[in-house]
Amino acid sequence: MQVQVDPHAGFCWGVVRTIQIAEASLQQGLPVYVLGHIIHNPREVERLERLGLHTITHEQLPQAVQDGARVLIRAHGEPPSTYQKAWELGVELIDATCPIVAKLQERVRKFYLQGYQIVIFGKAEHPEMIGVRGVCEDQCVIVRTVEEALRRVDFSRPTVLFSQTTMDKKAFAELASALRQRLQELVVEDPERIVGEFHAKDTICGQVAGREQHLREFAATHDVVVFVAGRASSNGRVLYEVCRSVNPRTYFIESVDELEPCWFADAERVGVTGATSTPQWYMQEVARLIAHRFGRAGT
Ligand code: SF4
Repeated sequence: MQVQVDPHAGFCWGVVRTIQIAEASLQQGLPVYVLGHIIHNPREVERLERLGLHTITHEQLPQAVQDGARVLIRAHGEPPSTYQKAWELGVELIDATCPIVAKLQERVRKFYLQGYQIVIFGKAEHPEMIGVRGVCEDQCVIVRTVEEALRRVDFSRPTVLFSQTTMDKKAFAELASALRQRLQELVVEDPERIVGEFHAKDTICGQVAGREQHLREFAATHDVVVFVAGRASSNGRVLYEVCRSVNPRTYFIESVDELEPCWFADAERVGVTGATSTPQWYMQEVARLIAHRFGRAGT
C-alpha cells in the first residue's frame, strides 16, 4: 500500500500569515493572548500554546490588561465592538485578520452605508460572520439555502449578496441565480413598483475554491482518502464533501486515534489531505502512521 500526502493541501496563505504574526510576536518575549482558537485545528493550537500563545475569550480581555499581554486577532477578524472594547480597556491588539476577510468587511460596510439590503451566504455563528455582522450593525440576512433566502429576503429593496469566504461556489451561484430570478419576477408582476437592483458578489476565497479541482483529481486517483481537519473548520467540511462526492471511501478525522483498520482493506493507494487550516506536519504524521500500521510509506 502506498500512502501519499496531497501536495496541494496545507495552510492557505491567510493562515500562514496569521501564524507567522503570532510566532514573531511570541519571539518578542511579552505575553501574547489570542481571542478564540487561532485556527480550527487542535494540533496547531497545541503547538502554538507550547510556544506560549494563550487562548482567551472576549470576557477575559480585562485579564490581558492585568497580565500586560498583547491580544492577537485571528484570521477570521472581529466586529468593531471588539476593537472598541480593547481601546476602552487599553489592550494592545495585534491585528492578524486575513486581508481577504478584511476586504469582505470593507465591502459589506460600503454597501450597508449606501442603504442596500445585505444578504450573506454563510453560517451566522461562524467567527468570520460575527465580524461581518458587526460592520453592518447586524442588519443583514444570513442564509444557507435558497428556501431560506426566498423566505427571508425583502425583494422590494436594493440588495447585495455576499458570501462567507469558505462557502461552496456552486451553491453560491445557485443562490444568486434564484434571487436574481425572483427580482425579475417582481418586475414582471408589477412594472410600476420600484424593485431594487441586485448585485451578487462572489467573495469566496480563491484559496478554498481553487483547491476543489486539485482535490477532485486527488480523490479520484486514490482508493481511500483520509481527510484531516478540525471539526470546527468550515472549509474542512466543504472540502471533505468535495472529496467524498468523487470518492465514497473518504474518511474525516481530526486525530490519528480515529483511524479504523477496516478503511484500508484492499487499498493500494491511500491519500491524505486536509483543510486550509490543517498543518502539513500533521498530515505527514497521519501518513506515516497509516503506512506503519497498515502498509508501507510512499511519497
Ligand atoms: S481561507 Fe482564504 S479568507 Fe480564509 S484565512 Fe485562508 S486566505 Fe484568508
